[in-house]
Formats: sequence, structure tokens, C-alpha cells
Amino acid sequence: MRKIFLSLALLTAMISLEAQEVDQALVEKIKLEGMQNSKVMEHAFYLTDVNGPRLNNSPNYLKAANWAKAKLQEWGLEANLESWGEWGKGWELKKSYLAITAPYYKPIIAFPKAWCSGTKGLKKAEVIVVDAKDSIQLQAYAGKLKGKIIIVPRTDSLKQSFKPDADRFTEEALSKMAGFTPPASTGGNGQRGNFNGRPPMFNVNKIKEFAKAEGAIAILSAAPNGKDGTLFVSGGGAYTANAPENFLDIAIAYEDYMTIYRLASRNIPVKLETEVAVAFHTEDTQGYNVVAEIKGTDPKLKDELVIIGGHLDSWHAATGATDNAAGCAVMMEVIRIVKAIGLQPKRTIRICLWGGEEQGLHGSRNYVKNHFTDTTTKKFNALGDKISAYYNLDNGTGKIRGIYTQGNTAVKALFSQWLQPFASLGASTVTAQNTGGTDHLAFDAIGVPGFQFIQDRIEYDTRTHHTNMDTYDHLIPEDLKQAATIIAAFVVNTAQQTEKLPRK
Ligand SMILES: [Zn+2]
Repeated sequence: MRKIFLSLALLTAMISLEAQEVDQALVEKIKLEGMQNSKVMEHAFYLTDVNGPRLNNSPNYLKAANWAKAKLQEWGLEANLESWGEWGKGWELKKSYLAITAPYYKPIIAFPKAWCSGTKGLKKAEVIVVDAKDSIQLQAYAGKLKGKIIIVPRTDSLKQSFKPDADRFTEEALSKMAGFTPPASTGGNGQRGNFNGRPPMFNVNKIKEFAKAEGAIAILSAAPNGKDGTLFVSGGGAYTANAPENFLDIAIAYEDYMTIYRLASRNIPVKLETEVAVAFHTEDTQGYNVVAEIKGTDPKLKDELVIIGGHLDSWHAATGATDNAAGCAVMMEVIRIVKAIGLQPKRTIRICLWGGEEQGLHGSRNYVKNHFTDTTTKKFNALGDKISAYYNLDNGTGKIRGIYTQGNTAVKALFSQWLQPFASLGASTVTAQNTGGTDHLAFDAIGVPGFQFIQDRIEYDTRTHHTNMDTYDHLIPEDLKQAATIIAAFVVNTAQQTEKLPRK
């Protein structure tokens, strides 16, 4: 009996010791600063409205990177633009105009895809339907495309949606995520996005190559999930330093596309006029991340790292507000909060704003490769072993509902504890699920704990992700404030606790 009593006493002591790992007073300070004095929308305003679209290596990207660097320096951090190596050309849209001029006049919602060539002045052109299922059929258009604008057939039709554009996770969905057990091999494919309805097309790149050689002016395209004035626009081809200019591919509103196609396919002549002016930048073809840090102060732990990040680059049809000025503004706000509460962290806290994410996580992957990867094992090296955790935010404007552990069950109890003070703000779910598509994967790949938070989707898939509508207006201040506050608490807990986070 006495023995049991002692063990219980010991157990109680151990529990309170573990509870001391989280400095609740510090978390309260963070909450107060993050929720009462937030500057997150101020950072977002500069990243979006002031600096504009931030296509990787474009002048605006570098402007935004330098703005972030200067801001972080203003807060007392050492900050740099760090090259990750060779990447490719910058590209900038200088002017863009497209309209139907016959059978009537009507302007079109249109955005040239990135890294496409311009028109060299105003061009008037007839539309031609190129209906080719293979290269033999394509040859039938030889000599017919010069000075024309091309459209290819599509068979889908607009689907009215009876679902709301925006939504949040239901309690039911969250509890399902919390109960998820990873299968033995992999925790899921981490894919997102719905590309059903893409029309069956003979390799459009083959058509573009042919059209370029034949002297056509442009090709029109419309992403399958765009409608109601929202278009999804990304790149139109290669961007490496020596790649030739890509044939002009103009993404247009789905409804405009179908109007033009219906007319042209019934042999009712459609005339368009267009002018696209672009600039390619080859002065410096290296890629750059913004890197800054608050140095750790504990003699034993100061060389260990807590890294946070989001990607600074965006696509070019809007100002990349939810993808991903939101994540950058939140992570910068995390740094501001840590400075504002006057914390001298035990471990070093580093912020990385990544470039080249949209073309395949280039900024983060190369950074991880350059600094933290053992070239033989492809796993973390001695420096990588010093990283306690990497935290990422890149799923839009939605508030945090919890965190994905990427199958790292060893962090579950800790993260649940860290989320406790934020249950009233809607964040309490820890799921073993994987999520993919963004920069935490670069760290996860070498065996360093890398996490993305669970965020409410809001209008990410329907309206903002890679669209012409991804602007400041689609950011929700209360949600971003909440996200910065929670991440600041995670960062501080990670920086202050005795042990590094457990590996998978
Ligand atoms: Zn993104």
C-alpha cells in the first residue's frame, strides 16, 4: 500500500514537471500580444497591395523579398536574401488586352500564362478551331494558322454549384481527422485540388509548338474549375535561363472561352484583338529565399533551431493573398510577437520565406539540400539534426483548427497539450494524417519534423488558389490573427522545452 502511495506521489511530481515544460504565463503574454496588438494585416497589405503579384524571380518578387528583409531587420533580426542556386528567368506582364471584335465587341477576362511571349503590338486576328487528336491530324492545319488565334474543342459544360463557395471544417470532420490512424506504408497521398472535367485534349504542347512554327499569334485556354469571373492561371512553359520564349497562351474566363468556341465551331467568324507586352529578366537567374533569425541564448541549446516558413512567391494574375502572402504575413507576425514579448529564446528561431514554391518547392528543397542534408544518406546531417521542428503555413486565409503530424505519433500528446489554451479559438485537433503540396515536405523528406497546420479552407479551392481573385480582400483578419498567435505559442514552446521534438 505504502509502495503504491509513493509511486502515485512520484507520478504526480512527474506530471507537474512535464506541465512546467509549457510556460503558461508566457503563452498568455503571446495570446494578449497576438490577439490585441496584431499587425498581421499590415504585413499582408505590404506583401499584396503594395508589392503586387510575386511570380518567382520577377522584379515584384525581389521587391517583396527586400521589403520583408528590411522589416525583419527593423525588428532587430539578422536578415538576408539567400541564393539557393541556379533557377531561371524572371517574367513580368507589362500590358494585357483581349477583346472580341466580331460578331460584336466584348472585352474578355484574360491573363497570359507566365513565361509566355508577347504580341509585339496590337494584333487583330481570326479565331481558328484546331481539332487534332494526333500529330497526323495536326499536319492538316499546315499553312492555315499564320496570324490566327487558336482555340481547341472542349466537351464539358458549366456546372452550377449548389454548395457554398466558402466553408469551415465541421466538428464531425475534425473528429474524424483526430481519429485517423496512418496505414503501415504511407499516411495518404497528400494531394489536393479537383481537376475533374479537364477536357480530353491531344497534347496541347504539341499544338503550341506547331502553332509557333506556323506563325500563329496565340492560343486560348480556360482551366476546368474556373467560372463566374474566376480564372485559374499558372505557367505557360519553361523558365530556365536558356529556354526559348513560350508560345503565347492566354487563360480566359470559361464563359468567354465557350462563347468563342461555340461560334467558331459553327463557322460564324470570330475576330479578336489582343496586345500582350511582357519582359523577361535574365540579369540574375539564381533563386532567392528570405532568411532571418532570432539567436538562441541558452549555452547548450542556442545552436538548435526552430524554423518557420511560408512561400513568398505567387502566381501573377492577382497578388497571391491567400497563396501565400497569408502564410508569410502570419510567420512575420509570429516573429513580431516573439520580439514584442521580449523573449530571449533558448533555441534559435529562424524564419524562411521561400521562393519558387509554385514551380515545385524549389526554395525550401534546395535550402534543405544546401544546409541540412547528408549527400549520401539523403537524410538529415549533423546540422539538420539540430532542427527541433519546422512549421509551415500555406493553406490560405483560414484559421488554424489543429495540426497534421505527418504520421509522427510521438508528438501527438505534446501538440494536444500545446493546443489546449487555444481550444476556445477553435484549434484542438491533432491528426496523424499527412498533408502535401507545400514546403514542410522538404524537411519531412530528410527525417526532420516538418508540420503544416490544419486550416479552414474558406474559398481556397473555389475562388482564390492560383486565381485572378487572390487579393487582400479575401483575407480574414480574425483568422490570421488567431493563426499567428497559435504558431507563436508553438514556436516558443519548441524553442524553450528541454528536449527537441521526437523524430518519426
Ligand atoms: Zn502556396
